[in-house]
Amino acid sequence: MITYDHIMVRFGELSTKGKNKIDFIRVLFHNCQRALKEFDKLHIYMRHDHIYVELNGVDYKPVIERLQEVSGIQGLSLVHKSLDRDIENIKNISLELIKQETGKTFKVHVKRTDKKYPLISDQITRIVAGHILKSGLGLTVDVHNPDIMLSIEVRDEAVYIFSHTFPGAGGYPLGVGGKAMHMLSGGIDSPVAAYLLMKRGVTIECIHFASPPYTQVGVIYKLEDLLKVLNRYQAKIRLHIVPFTKIQEAIYDHVDESYCITMMRRMMFRLADRLAKMRHCPVISTGESVGQVASQTLQSMRVINDVTNMPIIRPCATMDKVDIINTSVKIGTYDISIRPYIDCCTIFTPKSPKTAPKLEDCLKYEEQFDYEPLLKEALSNIEVKFISDEEEKKDSELL
Ligand code: ATP
Ligand code: MG
Repeated sequence: MITYDHIMVRFGELSTKGKNKIDFIRVLFHNCQRALKEFDKLHIYMRHDHIYVELNGVDYKPVIERLQEVSGIQGLSLVHKSLDRDIENIKNISLELIKQETGKTFKVHVKRTDKKYPLISDQITRIVAGHILKSGLGLTVDVHNPDIMLSIEVRDEAVYIFSHTFPGAGGYPLGVGGKAMHMLSGGIDSPVAAYLLMKRGVTIECIHFASPPYTQVGVIYKLEDLLKVLNRYQAKIRLHIVPFTKIQEAIYDHVDESYCITMMRRMMFRLADRLAKMRHCPVISTGESVGQVASQTLQSMRVINDVTNMPIIRPCATMDKVDIINTSVKIGTYDISIRPYIDCCTIFTPKSPKTAPKLEDCLKYEEQFDYEPLLKEALSNIEVKFISDEEEKKDSELL
């Protein structure tokens, strides 16, 4: 029986990238191979500037689902590939494939990238559609809203016939966009922000501020679980755990309660800035969303941001909480994020944090204690964990 035996991977946005295109496709090819490594029967290959997956009898559904998580793919078509490009063969295959579909109306759409093929697209369309109409299947043509859209792509090496196309994740292949130092808490927003960055091709390293004994080791397990989910998109993620207790205690000893969160966040950004530079990350990223809490008003952001001149990417900045939650459910981080935990932002939460802190007040408080040695100490006591989708590598690759 004639069946769909390949998946054709479509790139979309990539095609606008000119000379970088082939590098991007190579990265994407590698990412597809990695994503599909659990399916050992598949044959994944590049032909010209396209990626194909030969199914070899494997059910297409889980393969498509896995590929839908790979950024840089615009769409996925389930195709029948035939090396015989003769029009008689195209007619027969088209009819066999359309017999397997349900619907009353159809349209044939032809794309001919091999300009030397003896028939032009229009002729192929008419010949194939005529053959289907005469076949006795009872189908009629509807060019505007067909139940079945039969697409035929005639390329140099083969003809591809298909009627099912699935959306991809979009964006760019992971790894083409450089690296961000991502501030990861155990909440809902920062894992979503990480995912959105990865979708744009940016890889991440994570920085987390832990304040033991106020925060528990359970938070770290939670972060590890979150990152294991994100390993579906980025196979290896470095997590830097920064001891933050002493800094936090010093802040609470010297700063008015209403300014504690602002000051804490200024210290966090100072540390993130230095670690980002040490790790060659040109930007910092966070899960902040405008207006969500006191420290995320525009005035707070301006005052907190003042400690660094690095760009700060906030992928969730303008998203509504409900959309952030929906994304976290979709990518599978939500159930982990809602596990109860104590973050260093939640301990000592002031009764009325400043929503419009003033920069000069922050500078005044910062003159009252010598925080520089504390920052240096924190940076020299970072614990690094390496979260990888390959379990056995996890311990051996600790830095
Ligand atoms: P999230 O859901 O990501 O925890 P949030 O809504 O709880 O965000 P905040 O606690 O104000 O908001 O934190 C804003 C951002 O600051 C977080 O998204 C994260 O990027 C960063 N952040 C907060 N706490 C920490 C922490 N302990 N370690 C690292 N980054 C943090
Ligand atoms: Mg939080």
